[in-house]
Amino acid sequence: RVNRGDFMNALEEVHPAFGVSEEELQQVIQNGIIHFDGVVDEILRSGELFVEQVRTSTRTPLVSVLLHGPPGVGKTALGASIAQASEFPFIKLISPDSMVGYSESQKVAAITKVFADSYKSPLSVIVVDNIERLIDWTPMGARFSNAVLQALLVLFGRRPPKGRRLLIIATSSQRPILTDIGFSETFDSELRVPPISNLRALEFVLREVELFQSSDERRQVIKQLQEAGFEGDGLSSKFQIGIKKLLSMIEMARQEPDDVAQRLTGALVGLGM
Ligand code: ATP
Ligand code: MG
Repeated sequence: RVNRGDFMNALEEVHPAFGVSEEELQQVIQNGIIHFDGVVDEILRSGELFVEQVRTSTRTPLVSVLLHGPPGVGKTALGASIAQASEFPFIKLISPDSMVGYSESQKVAAITKVFADSYKSPLSVIVVDNIERLIDWTPMGARFSNAVLQALLVLFGRRPPKGRRLLIIATSSQRPILTDIGFSETFDSELRVPPISNLRALEFVLREVELFQSSDERRQVIKQLQEAGFEGDGLSSKFQIGIKKLLSMIEMARQEPDDVAQRLTGALVGLGM
């Protein structure tokens, strides 16, 4: 027998045509967020403030933020985390990975639909990931899809309908190009996501991912890197690595249990910094 409770449960189980794409977001934050540096918390805190601004200020129904920085520094994961933490009823990720094989017009249609869907929700966050790849920008001859670019520029500038509020979080590894192609005035705010550039942050990550059994081993790695000429701090540092690459090096080193420390220092020194 089906009772009213079952019926209501079934309704809830129906996947909404629009809303929060939990899986999609979760997937890009797969490895979590490691708080290896104060700047990580600063970026998340700024994100929180933008979320609050959209939630509470009637004057700013549209706020757009750009997260930019070198490849692999964690822009997508940070953008997705900020979006997820908002708990807004509509959260969507627009990513080039989900549009592989799309024609130009299919891309424009897909992007436009996400924005149109967002306008049905009182509060929305859209993460527009990797703008340069969305517009198929290629360094050779500086070519790109003008149709996708124009669609983005229009949508980024369009106020949501009355009573609706939208936060746009865009990411890019090619900040200078955005200016060249007309994005310079588009964002209300920009946050730079820096690479890991000191050994203290590196050591923090190593501890967090539990690569070594003992802290001695971990310190050994740090010492070797210091001896290899890696400076320990700030501006004088030669050491720069994105968290994404570091995590993948760590997982590679982990495959060889005998010589984890040697493998990791080898790989890091091999970066030629
Ligand atoms: P790309 O330039 O290739 O687009 P990206 O800058 O977007 O790279 P991500 O794809 O976000 O980088 O990769 C960062 C990875 O590191 C994710 O798997 C994420 O879970 C993990 N991570 C761990 N700590 C952090 C952190 N503090 N900030 C961001 N990402 C982190
Ligand atoms: Mg990314």
